[in-house]
Amino acid sequence: MIPNIKRKISELKHELHALKVYSNEDLANIIKEVGFKCDLCGRCCTNEFNDHVFLLDRDTTIIKEIEPTALVPAPYYELCDQYGRFYVCGYSLRTQHDGSCIFLERGSCRIYNHRLTICRIYPYMLHREPDEKGIIDWRQISGLNQHGIYHTDIPVEECQRIAQLTKEYEESFLLHEISFLERMNEFFSKHKLRHVRKVYNDRLQSYNSGAEINVFVYYKGNLELNKLKKIL
Ligand code: SF4
Repeated sequence: MIPNIKRKISELKHELHALKVYSNEDLANIIKEVGFKCDLCGRCCTNEFNDHVFLLDRDTTIIKEIEPTALVPAPYYELCDQYGRFYVCGYSLRTQHDGSCIFLERGSCRIYNHRLTICRIYPYMLHREPDEKGIIDWRQISGLNQHGIYHTDIPVEECQRIAQLTKEYEESFLLHEISFLERMNEFFSKHKLRHVRKVYNDRLQSYNSGAEINVFVYYKGNLELNKLKKIL
């Protein structure tokens, strides 16, 4: 059994609906007004700036083809069963020792021609989150005023194209999350599994002390087993 899972699915569906009715035109106007231009500082490709690079299934497929060792289970596993096995909704990209993306080399992306969905749209986003005062509202630009150049002239057609891509990415992300939780609900019921917070915390503590853990990663509707051991 997974506590509150139906409520979580329903909240995500509600979020998806809100996203769908958000006007493309409004997002394009914000993109135009902000006029962001990348100055190639490379900071957005480090975990100091962005916690992790989450991959949609189509992006995971690309990485599996070009460099499968670059994949790691995304952090913040959603679930842990009574046997101490973790479940997470997808993969993310491995980082280097300094926290930069595995593909960042001398300030450039070495897989630029295969750029992943999130890397194509960054720094644009469209989801609701709390600001520093806790007020929940739509956020459209990540790290506003912390990187890049602003107020450059972006052609209207380009703003519309970015707005469209950003909405498509956010919709795909929410659909992926919903699909993962629905699958988990079914899987846990079928195999009589329970999500146990205490086991979750204990196993994570063991992992941090050097023990191996099993993490199932949701990819294309299946669960892929990853065995992880922290290098101490
Ligand atoms: S894949 Fe390339 S663009 Fe994306 S975070 Fe890594 S280095 Fe940056």
